[in-house]
This record gives sequence, C-alpha cells and structure tokens, in this order.
Amino acid sequence: MKRSVFSKLITKQVLHAEKIGVKMRSSAKQIARQRIQVLFQQAKNVYRNNPELSNRYVAIARKIAMAAKMPLPRQYKRQICKKCKILLVQGDNCRVRIRQKRETHVVITCLSCGNKTRIPLKKKKEQT
Ligand SMILES: [Zn+2]
Repeated sequence: MKRSVFSKLITKQVLHAEKIGVKMRSSAKQIARQRIQVLFQQAKNVYRNNPELSNRYVAIARKIAMAAKMPLPRQYKRQICKKCKILLVQGDNCRVRIRQKRETHVVITCLSCGNKTRIPLKKKKEQT
C-alpha cells in the first residue's frame, strides 16, 4: 500500500513533466532531457547487476543537466540521494515511509548515508 501511493506520486509527476516537455521547444534542452531519460532508464536496468555503473549513469545525467543549465527534472531528482548522489532503488537502498505528522508527507531515507528527503503530499498548483 505504501508502495502504491509512492508510485502514483511518481507517475503523476512524470505525466506533468511530459506536458511541460511538449510545450517547451528549446532544442538543446529537449536533447538534454532525452539523454537524461535514457541514462536513468539504463541506470535502473543495470542497477541490479552493477550498482556502480548505474551510479555513473546518474552522475553523467546530472552533468548533462548542468551543461544544459537546466535543473534535473523532478521525477529524476527524487530518485537520487541529495547527499551521496546515488540512485535510490525502493526496497534496496532506500526506505519510503508515509508520515501523518502535521501535513502528510513521504519520507525517503537513503540507507547508504542516512539522508532523508521529505516530500509533501499536499497538492500545490504549478510551482515550477
Ligand atoms: Zn545517500
């Protein structure tokens, strides 16, 4: 159940990002976004067999975003630990919990460095 809420959250953001992606026609950023998407797919594919390689893909994706002077798309940003920059894989190197204190939020804990990322679940209209 916890997992389904989390994936719903991610899917919503992916759909949202795609909508924005269609509107923006800046070609360099478009290419950067595509490369980042491919790199993240690859990172996930190889994670099980070669976590080190997957972290290299993530590092490259971050560099591409930096070179294109764009922030890493949100749905990808949330798959990286802010502190140690590794790919977070549910049930493997990160813990996902829902907390009801104050506002309902999701807490993603990186099990490699212990860093916690807090994501409010409350809907906010267009903050990007
Ligand atoms: Zn970490």
